[in-house]
Amino acid sequence: MFEYRRFPRAPTEAPIQDLTGLRVGDLIVLRPYSQRDSAGRICWVCHCRCGVEVAYPANLLKREGVRSCGSIECRYHK
Ligand SMILES: [Zn+2]
Repeated sequence: MFEYRRFPRAPTEAPIQDLTGLRVGDLIVLRPYSQRDSAGRICWVCHCRCGVEVAYPANLLKREGVRSCGSIECRYHK
């Protein structure tokens, strides 16, 4: 019997999706980040192809077109 991983959450929050392994541009989602961002959103640690690890909130990864770590030194950042 497959058991879905459950995250504690407030009832008003949208359901939290497990994004582990998701590829977004030059990023691969590694794991949930231990802290939330300033808006209280769940963040995910992503590994950029350039070797940098960054944390982004899920909505940025899914809807707002993030493609790389965003560093100006990242050669994959446009
Ligand atoms: Zn990068």
